[in-house]
Amino acid sequence: MSQPHRNLFTLAIHAGESPDPVTGAVAPPIHQATTFSFATADEAAAAFERYIQPAIDWTGGDDPYVYTRWGNPTQTTLERKIAALEGGQAALATASGMAAIATAVLTAVQAGDHLVSAQTVYSGTYELFHRKLPALGIEVTFVDATQAGNVRQALRPNTRAVYIETPGNPLLDLIDIAAVAQIAQAHATRPLVIADNTFATPVNQQPLKLGADVVVHSATKYLVGHGDAIAGVLVGPGEFVHRARTGMLRDFGGIVSPFNAWLALRGMVTLPLRVERHNANALQVARWLEQQPQVSLVRYPGLESHPHVALARRQMSGFGGMVAFELAGGVEAGKKLMDRVRLCTLAVSLGDVRTLICHPASTTHSYIPAAARRAVPAPESLVQGP
Ligand code: PLP
Repeated sequence: MSQPHRNLFTLAIHAGESPDPVTGAVAPPIHQATTFSFATADEAAAAFERYIQPAIDWTGGDDPYVYTRWGNPTQTTLERKIAALEGGQAALATASGMAAIATAVLTAVQAGDHLVSAQTVYSGTYELFHRKLPALGIEVTFVDATQAGNVRQALRPNTRAVYIETPGNPLLDLIDIAAVAQIAQAHATRPLVIADNTFATPVNQQPLKLGADVVVHSATKYLVGHGDAIAGVLVGPGEFVHRARTGMLRDFGGIVSPFNAWLALRGMVTLPLRVERHNANALQVARWLEQQPQVSLVRYPGLESHPHVALARRQMSGFGGMVAFELAGGVEAGKKLMDRVRLCTLAVSLGDVRTLICHPASTTHSYIPAAARRAVPAPESLVQGP
């Protein structure tokens, strides 16, 4: 198993923030403002100039604030903290995980381009890639990316991005990030590797250090951590983040509110502590489930029985709070379980301090068309919970 990143405990608290220079307030303020003033017309013109440059190295917050859809100091604090935790140059805070994914992907690919995506991805991501991107003239090929060679086979002369999610939702399959990154780096078009790190968090896995170019998160999950705000982030090179900010994010408008950015900041201060406990609790639950006669399959990357356990130990420093399992009694047994659990709450989402449980086949995966479900495998009796 790779080494846990001990300095993350310090970064989670201190990165991106310092006492307010005006008041001395120790906790970051919420800048609940839509617009920012200029002292002179020349200062205003210079600020606009900076935002319309197509390619600059952006580290966030060095530029004057203009309007909260373009940037806001509370968003900047969040962006600096997640960039530090993921080991990236810059970050962009968004309204949701889907806004982060759409912003990242549509900054990397445009009409006429090709995207290779792992087939085991969050159902909303699958929906975006399966229906919306082709409608925009972007070709998408789904592959079983647990075999990195399948990514190589799918690359084309117009491939501009490779999208992976690991551990993948809902089966907790793992993808070898370093192997996929090497394949992308060797391809003529040098497609960007975009990795959804929601399930692992930077505490358990750091895709940029393994060669990925951009990381996306549903911050709604472990980063916010308390089930009270929808938010997203993307982390990557300064130039890419600047293009995303001044292109997709500014024009499609999916920015996070200052209050939700602050809730994410509040949650992230305890992220490493919470994730450590999630890791320990989930392993205990997974081991217990393996002993139960009514359970036919348990999927948890920390178990010997996980098909990618060697990779898990190589690329992760902990295995997260999500456990997936199947019941021998099939769909009916799954529903009965949902009706009878105590303490666990029957609800979608994950990464909350509360234990949630759900049945993907009848909820999150039910709106994927039957014909396409083969590409996003979710066994009918699968149950998952953090
Ligand atoms: N990525 C993963 C792995 C998810 O599980 C989810 C939501 O469940 C998303 C992205 C989308 O995030 P959001 O709901 O914040 O838009």
